[in-house]
Amino acid sequence: MRSLEQAQRDVLAAVSLLQVTEVPVWEALGLALAGPVVAPHDVPPFTNSAMDGYAVLGADVEEGPVTLKLLEDVPAGHVAQQALRPGAAIKIMTGAPMPEGADTVVKVEDTEPLPDGVRIMAATPTGTAVRLAGGDLEAGDPVFPAGERLTAPHLAVLASFGVSPRVHRRPRVAMLSTGDEVLPPETANLGPGQIRDTNRPLLAAMLDELGVEIVDLGIVGDDADVLRNTLEQGAAEADMVLTSGGVSMGEYDLVKIILRELGTVEFWKVAMQPAKPFAFGHIEGTPLLGLPGNPVSVMVAFEQFARPALLKMMGCRALFRAHAMARSAETWRTNPAKTVFVRVATEVEDGVTLVRSSGGQSSNVLSALARADAFAVIPVGTGWVHPGDAVAIELFRSPEARTASEVLDE
Ligand code: AMP
Ligand code: MG
Repeated sequence: MRSLEQAQRDVLAAVSLLQVTEVPVWEALGLALAGPVVAPHDVPPFTNSAMDGYAVLGADVEEGPVTLKLLEDVPAGHVAQQALRPGAAIKIMTGAPMPEGADTVVKVEDTEPLPDGVRIMAATPTGTAVRLAGGDLEAGDPVFPAGERLTAPHLAVLASFGVSPRVHRRPRVAMLSTGDEVLPPETANLGPGQIRDTNRPLLAAMLDELGVEIVDLGIVGDDADVLRNTLEQGAAEADMVLTSGGVSMGEYDLVKIILRELGTVEFWKVAMQPAKPFAFGHIEGTPLLGLPGNPVSVMVAFEQFARPALLKMMGCRALFRAHAMARSAETWRTNPAKTVFVRVATEVEDGVTLVRSSGGQSSNVLSALARADAFAVIPVGTGWVHPGDAVAIELFRSPEARTASEVLDE
């Protein structure tokens, strides 16, 4: 049996970076930078006002109140036609460039308009409410390192530069479910022995969240020819193929037989629970991850192997979910020979994150998975977890708080 860590190393070592391409910021969410980003110009690009108010000389407003002559009005996007001179003010809007000679903005709340001037009511220190060119970033400053995964604010920064980032392209991932008993989730009435496909909707949602493109190969029954063709099609069209089911110990398991025939695929037993049986290898150069059939195992194996592998292919620097520390509120007996992923619900009490089992822990129990927001990762050698024991958790959903009525009734 191979350890979880060894299996993760083996998978990561066998997948490679996708090509680099330039994409508009509109299409770059979730992708990783192929190289560092350096500021191409100062940010802000010009010294401007942080407030709606009056651009003045600091020396004129060291004491208030004082009356200044009004020279002109500068809305955002416009430039003052004249330089400021002592004893005068220029009306200015937030974001408008500071007029030449001005070094201070008095906010409009501290002023009173006069027929052809303005009364400054409050003493205002020199430099107030001025955003200096390059005050955020100077041209040439490093902004993001290579491998940074682009989130909403990253995209906003790149937009401010007018930069279309160079990123590793978005992976295409083919997925299929296997098994004669598995029918589409839309199936209204199930016959004897039949179940609905939970694994493709589960995988599709997790892949969507990662921001990869999905090639849906559907459900393949236990039919050698169809399976062979479908796997070949997936390998040709996609950068990774994900299957579920048919990789456990069944001696005559079709998926195993076809995978062996088509590519260099190994069948592993990983010292983890759930998701012990796992297949990994390549078909025509495309990595294939053969996930177990049980849905909870599918999610655990996806999280531990497919997600980090895809993030590596995408050129991301960080590949794994961060471990946070929590305390168990319960007693658990876990298999000391395996890394055990306990499905838990988290709750913060007096500033401490407490975790409780979210329900049945068998690998087919989806309801407990849906009620969980984290996996508690219990390392090999543990055996027992007692109330108050520290446990590492991997959050896969961030808890939300405060209902509309809680807010509205406050
Ligand atoms: P297998 O490894 O193919 O024997 O599958 C293990 C268990 O997972 C069996 O109970 C299967 O019926 C179930 N299973 C396999 N594929 C799916 C699927 N796509 N959706 C729901 N359950 C599945
Ligand atoms: Mg099966």
